Amino acid sequence: MNVPFIDLKAQHHQIRDEVRAALDEVMETSGFAGGEKVRQFEQAFAQHVGRKHCIACSSGTAALHLALMALGVRLGDEVIVPDNTFIATAEAVSHCGAVPVFADIDGRDYCIDAGRIAAAVTARTKAVIPVHLYGQSAEMDDILAVARQHGLKVIEDCAQSHAAEYKGRKTGTFGDAAAFSFYPTKNLGAYGGGGAVLVDDDTEARTIHMLREHGSARKHHHEMVGYNYRMDGFQGAVLGVKLKYLAAWTERRRQLALAYRNALEGLPLVLQPPKPHVHHVYHLYVVQVRDRDTVMSRLAEQGVATGIHYPVPLHLTPAYVGLGGRKGQFPVTESCADELLSLPIYPELTEDMVDYVAQCLRKALCSG
Ligand SMILES: *Cc1c(COP(=O)(O)O)cnc(C)c1O
Repeated sequence: MNVPFIDLKAQHHQIRDEVRAALDEVMETSGFAGGEKVRQFEQAFAQHVGRKHCIACSSGTAALHLALMALGVRLGDEVIVPDNTFIATAEAVSHCGAVPVFADIDGRDYCIDAGRIAAAVTARTKAVIPVHLYGQSAEMDDILAVARQHGLKVIEDCAQSHAAEYKGRKTGTFGDAAAFSFYPTKNLGAYGGGGAVLVDDDTEARTIHMLREHGSARKHHHEMVGYNYRMDGFQGAVLGVKLKYLAAWTERRRQLALAYRNALEGLPLVLQPPKPHVHHVYHLYVVQVRDRDTVMSRLAEQGVATGIHYPVPLHLTPAYVGLGGRKGQFPVTESCADELLSLPIYPELTEDMVDYVAQCLRKALCSG
């Protein structure tokens, strides 16, 4: 059997006709840059998340950058980010001229540890970016309490947490702003780049709109130096179609995660314990194993593709090691970088495939 890490083609085949019709509309109306399909998606997504404003843009990285700019992060400020995340979380901070300050994660949910945020605060700290990593919400009550105590803005990085919930409320509704990515492999993925910023404040929303379009709210009137961060009309059209399926696709991911949990019982590996107050959407299904790289290549030999999220902690990655990071500084993230393995999970995966992956993993772990 062959189990790919993701299968975007299988998903496209389910919705091909609807997507083609929506793309046709874009072509017939020439709504290529922004346009009606993007506006419709913005409305639908704001309603889905439960926030007043949704501003669609070109990527998740752009969304984080726009959110930080609108909340006033500037040259010389510090922004606390988890050490275990995709580099874009930190890059957006750097794009503002600010400095990302890394904090270790909690080994139970692999998200930023609220206690470590407090320890990283200085007089320059302006904001914190909790990341709802792998599809599971960070501990928002604790994080918001620390942020309030130190007067920090909170930007949620929801690139991996579409439709995830914390204590019955969707991720993306807790912070001052939320940034989503619609990169093709995310739980809600475009057919190219895409992202969105969600806020409730009208003034912030207006600033984000302007920053997205060359600092302008109307043609040839530039109130500030902005960016070209628009979403393509085609992406708005695809996302409008796919949003209707998100709930069903999410439910399927959760079923498959349960199937994995049952199939992997008793194996010498660590599974993320489910948090009862969190609705996990399983962007990734991660397991913690000893001798990860050997296990990974044994699985590859059996036709099972896996991934590593993330192999190098941000404080040790070449782009950021200049900030003074050293080995041993963030032990939880460092051991995750050595031991976490992401198994295939996507709505089109079958139960047979889950069983096969579990069987191969059993062999890989138990054959010395
Ligand atoms: C994918 C991702 C991003 C960046 O999104 P892009 O759309 O690729 O720019 C940011 N943060 C996290 C946690 C991500 O997984």
